[in-house]
Amino acid sequence: MTSHIMPTYGRLPVTFTHGKGAWLWDDQGKRYLDALSGIAVCNLGHAHPAVHKAISKQSKTLIHTSNLYQVAAQEQLADALTAKSGMENVFFSNSGAEANEAAIKLARCYGHQKGITKPEIIVMEKSFHGRTLATLSATGNPKVQKGFAPLVTGFIRVPFNDIAAIEEAIAKHKNCVAILVEPVQGEGGVNIPADDYLNKIRALCDEHSLLMMLDEIQTGIGRTGKFLAFQHNGILPDVCTLAKALGNGVPIGACLASGQAATLFTAGMHGSTFGGNPLVCSAALAVLKTLEQDDLIAQAEKKGQKIANAFREKLQGNAQVIDIRNKGLMIGIELSEPCAALVTAAQQQGLLINVTNEKVIRLLPPLVIKNKQIEFLVKTLSTLIQEHTQPM
Ligand SMILES: *Cc1c(COP(=O)(O)O)cnc(C)c1O
Repeated sequence: MTSHIMPTYGRLPVTFTHGKGAWLWDDQGKRYLDALSGIAVCNLGHAHPAVHKAISKQSKTLIHTSNLYQVAAQEQLADALTAKSGMENVFFSNSGAEANEAAIKLARCYGHQKGITKPEIIVMEKSFHGRTLATLSATGNPKVQKGFAPLVTGFIRVPFNDIAAIEEAIAKHKNCVAILVEPVQGEGGVNIPADDYLNKIRALCDEHSLLMMLDEIQTGIGRTGKFLAFQHNGILPDVCTLAKALGNGVPIGACLASGQAATLFTAGMHGSTFGGNPLVCSAALAVLKTLEQDDLIAQAEKKGQKIANAFREKLQGNAQVIDIRNKGLMIGIELSEPCAALVTAAQQQGLLINVTNEKVIRLLPPLVIKNKQIEFLVKTLSTLIQEHTQPM
């Protein structure tokens, strides 16, 4: 049968019917360890009872009213997110790209308030910010942009993890109003910058009155071993975007702001029909509560270290393994050769992984992954890597 879905994804020929924690089962009854969490979405694992309870309870009373009225769950979620992050207020969207759209609009508003009529935002090479026109224009990957010209203007691109390049760009572009960056680049290949990279960006933003805007859509919600990755640096950005794991699979995004950035949007300047409705906010509230109750963020730190070390041990001496790096449970294993074939090979062994930027195996296991599951992951994948890199 021909599919009637637009072929925007190259899909593996597997259909899942149910899950529990880090496990998924397909329609043939085969079990898989999910070391990708639906791309950093299901941080609490699949079918988490707290999320199930929250959305089933909420759906019995109200799923949606409108942002034309007060929404109690949205107020509660904004209270919780600002308390946990140190940010001041929140705009709720339905996805990551939309959260970044809000951030980009905030930066432009900020520029206009300063009398800059053509504001520009510094963005990074190898970045990923989404698939809408503005966010794909901000994205540093020609493959994402190809075929969609004319792109949205107003972005200045510099290499990632290069403070001197940012300084040069600021000196050269007088219309620069903001810097948008991921604390760890996810789609770009699990690229972890220098420990003080964000601190230096914060200082530059202060010096030049730019908005520091962090895309924490992949790094947020405990993934890197802190609630938000910038909390490793003891700084506060002006704008921070979230999505992916915020609802553990229920679609919700958020754009958080502090300081002047929190004062820019007034009634009528931005909006979303679904954004922050009672159903999605009840899921996100359950996620935040569970992360705390089960101390999952500290576990992300410990388990990430454990997994990375185990791979280092198993793969030591393999000359085609260039680097094994992690920030919490955001893990990259970089090979010297393209390795997309490993995705199918792993799937056949009952393991779900991802390869990004052609040569980087990306692992984003749920924060609830158990020790036995970690053992299965390390054993299965390291064997596959050895076979792939040292063919008989
Ligand atoms: C996934 C992702 C996005 C886009 O989120 P969508 O919900 O797919 O629109 C943006 N930025 C980063 C860093 C991401 O990982």
